[in-house]
Amino acid sequence: MEFVALGLSEEVRKGVKALGFDKPTPVQEQAIPVALAGNDLLACAQTGTGKTAAFVLPFLEAIEPGGRISGLVVTPTRELATQIEEEARVVARYTGHSVLTVYGGVPYAKQVKRLRRGIDLLVATPGRLLDLHGKGEIDLSGVQILVLDEADRMLDMGFWPDVRRILSLLPSERQSMLFSATLSDEVLRVIGGAVNDPVRVDVAPSSLPVDAVEQYVYPVNASQKTELLVALLNELEEYRAIVFTRTKQRADRVSQALKVSGVFVDTIHSDRSQKQRERTLADFKCGKHALLVATDVMARGIDVESVTHVINYDIPERPEDYVHRIGRTARAGEKGVAISLLSHEELESLRQIERVVGKVLSARDVEGFNYLGRVVPRPDRASATAAPRTLFSGGVLRRGGRSGRTRRF
Ligand code: ADP
Ligand code: MG
Repeated sequence: MEFVALGLSEEVRKGVKALGFDKPTPVQEQAIPVALAGNDLLACAQTGTGKTAAFVLPFLEAIEPGGRISGLVVTPTRELATQIEEEARVVARYTGHSVLTVYGGVPYAKQVKRLRRGIDLLVATPGRLLDLHGKGEIDLSGVQILVLDEADRMLDMGFWPDVRRILSLLPSERQSMLFSATLSDEVLRVIGGAVNDPVRVDVAPSSLPVDAVEQYVYPVNASQKTELLVALLNELEEYRAIVFTRTKQRADRVSQALKVSGVFVDTIHSDRSQKQRERTLADFKCGKHALLVATDVMARGIDVESVTHVINYDIPERPEDYVHRIGRTARAGEKGVAISLLSHEELESLRQIERVVGKVLSARDVEGFNYLGRVVPRPDRASATAAPRTLFSGGVLRRGGRSGRTRRF
């Protein structure tokens, strides 16, 4: 299937080309024609399947630029909002729409100034949207298309009262589209009222991005995790990797320990200021740091190409978080490796994850590592031989170990 067959005009297709997309992903293939036909939509597809373009392109196609907010995308985090804006801007260069993101944690002045100049598509986090509306800076009475992105996450994060208020401010004559990685009964019950007689698009789990990820566990006592992580990074020849921890405190501690061991690393979590987070992500994107330590709140926001390894320093308690974390690698058809450091206490969480991903993850050892009185089950010999493969496909990767050299190719 080609983008042209979805009913997109030449301008929009030029933008799609500028984004580097050749062919639509399954969710784009299914959602775009439904959206262009003017139907409400409930779309369920895993992280990393291209949902952004599935709602951005129909808006740019269907609505004439007019300098009045006619499209509104509500999304839970600043990072997601920024990524949607970036993608929309590329295409909007060809269609002539103005696009703006507003989110909290930064001063109002700049956002207000740009709002006053006139915006076609507004991408917003719920709190700041309501704040700016309360100040009289946002007029929502012209909204024709509403998108609720990551609806399940907004529910998890307690944003639903805000979303309900936002819904009450919109014209009832509108098209609503809801995108979510999961559509549980609870999600459906709570969000049902946001859409009207929707067409439902489900992308089969067989196209789960996790299928493209090689997944391993490294059994180790909790007290030796940091030491093992350093040994593992030394073993990997080259990488652009994200290390996930369960809490902000642990993220800071792991970062600190890695720095002491001579590994260049940066940290991203919700305690850091918006500026710091943006700088950290930009540094990671351009390859200044080849290793990023992050918490789950950040997992969905990080859309960086060519992440070779996702390392779970802690195994997440919720299998969805595992899926979101490892979805940071193997983006858009690339391959990737996910490594989970497994302590005895985490065996139950691992079993739940294995049920969700539908396979038993094979266990490995770091060769030559001095495992002290390990109480977690040892990996079987057969799967313990090979070191994780090194994968890369462009960008900047740091040579593993302590050399600190950076290579560009
Ligand atoms: P989701 O919102 O489902 O998590 P995104 O919209 O963030 O997914 O897209 C994930 C990644 O895939 C992004 O890097 C995006 O640029 C890329 N992508 C999206 N659609 C396509 C496509 N049709 N062809 C190639 N890459 C794509
Ligand atoms: Mg998304």
